[in-house]
Formats: sequence, C-alpha cells, structure tokens
Amino acid sequence: MIENSLIQRIEDELFALEKQGNKRKLPLITQQDNTGKEHVKERYNLSSNNYLGLATDQILRQEFLNSVTKDNAVFSASSSRLLTGNHARYTQLETKLCRMFGMESALVFNSGYHMNAGILPAVCDTKTLILADKGVHASLIDGIRLSNATCYRYRHSDYTHLTQLLTKYAHRFTCVIIVTESIFSMDGDCTDLNYLVSLKQRFPNTLLYVDEAHAVGVRGIQGLGCAEEQQCIADIDFLTGTFGKALASVGGYLLCKEPIRNYLINKARTLLFTTALPPINLLWTVFVLERLSDFTDRRQQLHKNSLLLKQQIIAKGFNCPSESHILPVIIGNNKETVLKAEELQRKGFYVLPIRPPTVPEGTSRIRISLTATMTSSMIEQLATSL
Ligand SMILES: *Cc1c(COP(=O)(O)O)cnc(C)c1O
Repeated sequence: MIENSLIQRIEDELFALEKQGNKRKLPLITQQDNTGKEHVKERYNLSSNNYLGLATDQILRQEFLNSVTKDNAVFSASSSRLLTGNHARYTQLETKLCRMFGMESALVFNSGYHMNAGILPAVCDTKTLILADKGVHASLIDGIRLSNATCYRYRHSDYTHLTQLLTKYAHRFTCVIIVTESIFSMDGDCTDLNYLVSLKQRFPNTLLYVDEAHAVGVRGIQGLGCAEEQQCIADIDFLTGTFGKALASVGGYLLCKEPIRNYLINKARTLLFTTALPPINLLWTVFVLERLSDFTDRRQQLHKNSLLLKQQIIAKGFNCPSESHILPVIIGNNKETVLKAEELQRKGFYVLPIRPPTVPEGTSRIRISLTATMTSSMIEQLATSL
C-alpha cells in the first residue's frame, strides 16, 4: 500500500530525528513584554524578532485601536491583488514606502518568504547568473531553486571569492544578480553594501539584491535599514525587507525601478496566486511606518545593549562575529551547545541552540537576539549566566 509505506517512512525519519535530538516541535508561547511564557515558566525572551519592542507595546496598540472603526476594520481581502484584493490600503502603503526610501516603485507581498520565493523565479531566465552569499535565508534559496538561473554561492561575506566568481563567469551570461542580506541572521554580521555596489559597477549587467529583513527598523537614522546607514539605497536594484520583525506587522516589501514592478505583477506567482493581505494589517503597517523615524531612542538603546553584550561575550572568552543586535555565542561542540542552552533556559533566559546544518560544522552556537526594551541590568545578568 503506497499510503502505508509513506507513513512508515516518515515515522522512521521522525524517530531518527528524535534519536539525534533534532526533532522539532511547536512550542506554546504567549509573548508579553520581554518574557516568552512557555507553559507556566516565565523567561526573558532572547529569541524573538521584536527588536524595537513594538509588537508588545500596549500604548502603541491602544493608539492604533482608537483609530479603528467598523468601516476600516476589514479582516480579509477576499481575493488576490490581481482580482479584487488590491484595496486602497495597498496604494497608500506602497506610495508611502516610495516616499520614505526615495525610490521609484514599491511592491508589497504577503510575507518576506512569498517575496523572496517569488522575485527571482519571475525575473531570471536561463541566461541569468545568480551569485549568492553562502549564508542567505531559506526563502532566498527557495527562490533560487525555483528559478531557471545558474547559481554559484560565495563563501559567507568573502568578497574576494565573489570577485573571482564574477571574473570567471559573468561574461558568459546576459545578466548577473548578486544576492545577499544586510545583517545575517546566524552571525549577526553586516554586509559592506558599498563594496558590492562598486563590484556591480565594475562588472557590466550586474544587479544587486539585498534583503534587509533584520535591519529594517533597526538601522539608519530613519530606520530604513543598512542601505540608509551606508547611503546607497538608490544603488540597490532589489531592496527588500519584511514587516514581520522590527516593524511588528506582516508582509514583505520590495523597492525597485518601475519596469521591475510592472513585470512582477505579471509574473511573480507568489503575488498572483494568493489572497492579498487583509486591509486591517496594512492599516497597522502604515501606522507603524508613520512613526518609524520617531523610534530613534529605541534604536539607540538596542545599539547600546548590543555593544554591552558583545563586550561581555568576548570577555567570557567566546568568539562572537556580531556587528548587530543578533549575537551568537559560538561554542563549537553540538552537545555542549545544547547543554548550555538548557542551562540558560533553566536560569530564565529563553535562548535556543543552533546546530549544523543550519550553521557550519564545528560552529554550534547559542543565538541571542536583543530588543530595545531590555535594560543594562538584564544584559549583565545574562552575561553572568554565560
Ligand atoms: C525572516 C526572514 C525572511 C522571511 O520574512 P517573513 O516576513 O517572516 O516571511 C526573509 N528573509 C530573511 C533574511 C529573514 O530573516
């Protein structure tokens, strides 16, 4: 029986995962302020992407709710954007994004995952070469896999390797797309965007695709991300990010030139074949974006917290390549990492161990992601527990 053999196989695989200590389950959590409550135990949540604390800000939420009426509280778009789902909130949000970033066009997707899984398959053909950082997110990898392009990965943040690949292969293709993130989610290190811009200018027909998922809201005076900080927004051909992390909402955005947007609304399957976001969510996203430049204090606090923790991690003798609010404590050995994470959890810090294949062999780590609502004394407590 086909069905039975399928169930047998997946049960065997689940058993094997369990035996390796790699079986995942969905934890039960309600987020409140800094604590992630799992079942009854309360812990400091050091694993969320609520970087500015906006998702748990009761005052902000109340202020938004005060502006909600029976007329504007619409909880479903009821169809895709190409049919009747392209409600006025989309125009409002995309116009706002264009103005904030000073870019020609913006396109909002249902999530960062939809966006990254949809853009590359739409724009690439068999004569396209993708050169992607070894550390890019699964959504970008899925986009690359679904595309007809040829892809080579360069060693994480190794621009010499990237230059070698460009020199060797670029002339064989009609177009090259360099794909990277601006802050990487495992090492917390930052990309030298201006260096990539200079590479793009050296090699003809090369475009730059930058995912700012972890940087938007957090970096730059206005909170637009590392491209704002490094003053190269206009030099990036596909500037993307998510509303789901620091911005406390849902959806993915792309800033680009107008022909790219026009093409994507014809070709991007993850945009065409899914129900549009509910108007109420877009209303909240616009509400948050309107206040984004006012969150400077939160950005500064987050920065202070990050510097403090990095100092302490290094003082404890651990290796920490972070240049952001995402800080790995690299331990190396898998078992030791799991034990350390469990110990920290017992002490009240909700951190998770990250092991291969998510990170390279021998670099197992505890991944800490900080938020602006944490105080220096919390950071000191955490550091002591390391
Ligand atoms: C989280 C993340 C995404 C996915 O965004 P969602 O809106 O959560 O789907 C995409 N890219 C990177 C780099 C991310 O970290």
